[in-house]
Amino acid sequence: MSTGSADQADETADVVVVGAGPGGAATAAYLAQNGLDVVLLEKAAFPRDKICGDGLTPRAVRELVHLGIDTTGWQRTKGLRILGGGRNFTLDWPDTATFPNYGLVRTRRQFDETLARHAQARGARLHEHTSVQEPLRDARGRVTGVTAKLLDAQGRATGQKSTFHAKVVIAADGVSSRMATAVGREKREDRVMGVAVRAYYTTPRRDDYLESHLELWTTDDAGQRMLMPGYGWLFPLEDGRTNVGLGILDTSSAFGKTDYKDVMRRWVESLGPVWSLEHDTSGGPIRGAALPMGFNRTPLYADGLLLVGDSGGMVNPFNGEGIDYALEAARLSADVVVQALARPSDAARERVLAAYPRIMKHELGGYFTLGRWFAHAIGNPEVMRLATKYGLPITPLMRLLLKMMANLPEEHGGRADDRLVRTLSRLAPDA
Ligand SMILES: Cc1cc2nc3c(=O)[nH]c(=O)nc-3n(C[C@H](O)[C@H](O)[C@H](O)COP(=O)(O)OP(=O)(O)OC[C@H]3O[C@@H](n4cnc5c(N)ncnc54)[C@H](O)[C@@H]3O)c2cc1C
Repeated sequence: MSTGSADQADETADVVVVGAGPGGAATAAYLAQNGLDVVLLEKAAFPRDKICGDGLTPRAVRELVHLGIDTTGWQRTKGLRILGGGRNFTLDWPDTATFPNYGLVRTRRQFDETLARHAQARGARLHEHTSVQEPLRDARGRVTGVTAKLLDAQGRATGQKSTFHAKVVIAADGVSSRMATAVGREKREDRVMGVAVRAYYTTPRRDDYLESHLELWTTDDAGQRMLMPGYGWLFPLEDGRTNVGLGILDTSSAFGKTDYKDVMRRWVESLGPVWSLEHDTSGGPIRGAALPMGFNRTPLYADGLLLVGDSGGMVNPFNGEGIDYALEAARLSADVVVQALARPSDAARERVLAAYPRIMKHELGGYFTLGRWFAHAIGNPEVMRLATKYGLPITPLMRLLLKMMANLPEEHGGRADDRLVRTLSRLAPDA
């Protein structure tokens, strides 16, 4: 419903979702398909770029299947190739009943537009070029909507403002989450943070494996081989390009003291004729962003505002994967909100909404704690050196590690390594 003057419009919905990245778009799609009236607000307009590796594990593919996304024509991957300690090790994705045995790579320019249009097709009212400014709050501090300013096609303020009212507001506005910070949910210092840079390169090489480099080598001015901090990736796209990037965790002593773009240029050069990489400048320069890990903003629900995806710091500390966890949070949060809004009283609704943080902890809390321990362990270069030297050649150990790092255990039954991953996640304290 729109009312008000030309420069101050008012709309009301059951749910307002702020941010139409994967987390927000998927949440809006699930809510709308369950019959709720949903407004989805996005400051950019699609298609738009997002700094990312564009890699989707089988766990993320399973979520796309849940959501009903057609992935025909997207680059498929068979598994992961790991390089480290002078060795090279290829592992196929596990073949289980729980997850498909393939991954995908899709530019975020394409991926995010597909999900946003999907949400629209399911009935969500998407407003692009709508930059949310702050939450509306009632006398008790409960979030009851948001204010937004409208942008023109160049992203400049038009001077027009809108107000959106809802029973529940979802912050899916990414790592810096203006919404979460406005209500005092700052990022937690006891959680792991990563930074990563990436760019697109053309290459004659065709590949259907994700490639991960545990060591980044270059040659110094004296011609000596030199190890640089961080981990690198090359993720193939179906169009003859590859997404190349590197990341580093704040558990490493080099964090914050390194020129990551320079490391990237040197590393890409050192890959030489194996890849023959040429920077595709039409895909933009080397750009970087932060990865908030292991629930780095809590509570995930309070006072009418629920966090989904990077706004709640849901990146997997084992491997930097955030899209899958944003999609899982979308599915679980939508389920909670649909049930809550079906309850007749405010008190009953609130009880249902308050279950969301517990559900997320139950699903991922122990696993994220293991990820945090892992991130601290590999922050020590000696641990990493020993793991690369002695762990990499042992195939069953690497298979277990892949299941652990990509969170791909068979959910019911399975082999000893599936049971081990599940048991460790269950035993670890919740993040
Ligand atoms: C370099 C790099 C590489 C990565 N590689 C991978 C990878 O290969 N695979 C993987 O799974 N994950 C990867 N990640 C993590 C992944 O990008 C994120 O976890 C994921 O994008 C989170 O989705 P989201 O929907 O929560 O947030 P986002 O994708 O950040 O979406 C947030 C949306 O909110 C909008 N928004 C923000 N503020 C406002 C506002 N005030 N008003 C309106 N709209 C707003 C933004 O424009 C954006 O569209 C990588 C991250 C980085 C930095």
